[in-house]
Amino acid sequence: MASVSYPYEAPVSQTLFERAAAVTPGGVNSPVRAFRAVGGTPRFMVSGDGPYLTDADGREYVDLVCSWGPMILGHSHPEVIAAVQEAVSRGTSFGTPGEGEVALAEEIVARIAPVEQVRLVSSGTEATMSAIRLARGFTRRSKVIKFAGCYHGHVDALLAAAGSGVATFALPDTPGVTGAQAGDTIVLPYNDLDAVRTAFAAHPGEIACVITEASPGNMGVVPPLPAFNQGLRDLCRDNGALYISDEVMTGFRTSRAGWYGVDGVEPDLMTFGKVMGGGFPAAAFGGRADVMAHLAPAGPVYQAGTLSGNPVATAAGLAQLRLLDDAAYEKVDAVSAGIQALVTDALTKEGVAHRLQNASNMFSVFFTDRPVHNYEDAKGQESFRFTAFFHSLLAQGVYLPPSSFESWFVSTAHDERAVQKIADALPAAARAAAEATAA
Ligand code: PLP
Repeated sequence: MASVSYPYEAPVSQTLFERAAAVTPGGVNSPVRAFRAVGGTPRFMVSGDGPYLTDADGREYVDLVCSWGPMILGHSHPEVIAAVQEAVSRGTSFGTPGEGEVALAEEIVARIAPVEQVRLVSSGTEATMSAIRLARGFTRRSKVIKFAGCYHGHVDALLAAAGSGVATFALPDTPGVTGAQAGDTIVLPYNDLDAVRTAFAAHPGEIACVITEASPGNMGVVPPLPAFNQGLRDLCRDNGALYISDEVMTGFRTSRAGWYGVDGVEPDLMTFGKVMGGGFPAAAFGGRADVMAHLAPAGPVYQAGTLSGNPVATAAGLAQLRLLDDAAYEKVDAVSAGIQALVTDALTKEGVAHRLQNASNMFSVFFTDRPVHNYEDAKGQESFRFTAFFHSLLAQGVYLPPSSFESWFVSTAHDERAVQKIADALPAAARAAAEATAA
């Protein structure tokens, strides 16, 4: 941990955090929210408006997390809120089919050519878990290739640590995941097609699928090298395995058609979440109709959900997607490019070694002078500098993800005033990063 002091206080958040810790493990409902990577008191937010969040102590922040991606139109967008209010006024859950879920599925299928059919679920974790089950059911094979540093939700089989060397069988990465659950997972270094080739050669006829983040954002932003996704596509096809592109983070964010809209590589199955739920729990998996036909009740692979296709969540998602036209993506991309330039200028002025990496409007900063192509590279950064940078920005009212291994997110609502607030805060934050020392 860095030698950083926290000259600012958040007494109401601190009290809430203590209350929370008494009734909830670690005081949070998702671990990274606890600020353990950076220290200090997590801010309890009470409201969001456009690019701003307000915490329980009444302090306003420019939000560069955007609920970890979903809020691409900013907080409380009037048309999304109106759609939610209209849906709520008709009831909150029926447990029957409804028109909203058909319309949302149609919107997804219309945007993304490889998605011929789609099934709605409630979280990205459910989407990847179900896609893996479907791939195994379809191919009648059991092994799965994933990449170190890629996160696909807290699915047992996908919470596997990277073993060293090629095609090493993974050890469970967390207590509670058994060797049996992780034993069919092969973890390989990201951006390394030779490793994938070797794994297929070592396990002929056994690998059901390769799952990869379309462009990873969960080890910081580490885009695929130019031929990587196409190479995965080809290797899967040559070896009778399915190629699953996890677009939970990139879907409907990096372009109208997500990362598929950027690199055009055609997966067999895709997973979505975040933006498509408009801030509500809605997610999906979809792809080739012949593969999706194996899903119950059309086929034998079981998958279900009490709240799947929930009418309020689908109304929010549909309203958000319908507002996301080409002009909206141009706006988010431009805002993002502007902030990226400000960040790199400020750090360069203070002589801080860093790499700013982006995948269209998703970006993050690595405190290293080397390019980051995989998880090992990402771990090589000087994270103590991020800690100082983060706390300086927080103290000045700019809210970054509380970890150096996360993407930053912006929205169409990040206007000049919000960007100016970031610009004003960056010089001191860059200085803090320059002066930080490892503990
Ligand atoms: N896949 C990716 C690429 C993600 O980034 C995430 C969450 O951040 C997930 C899956 C899991 O989604 P959820 O948190 O909705 O379960």
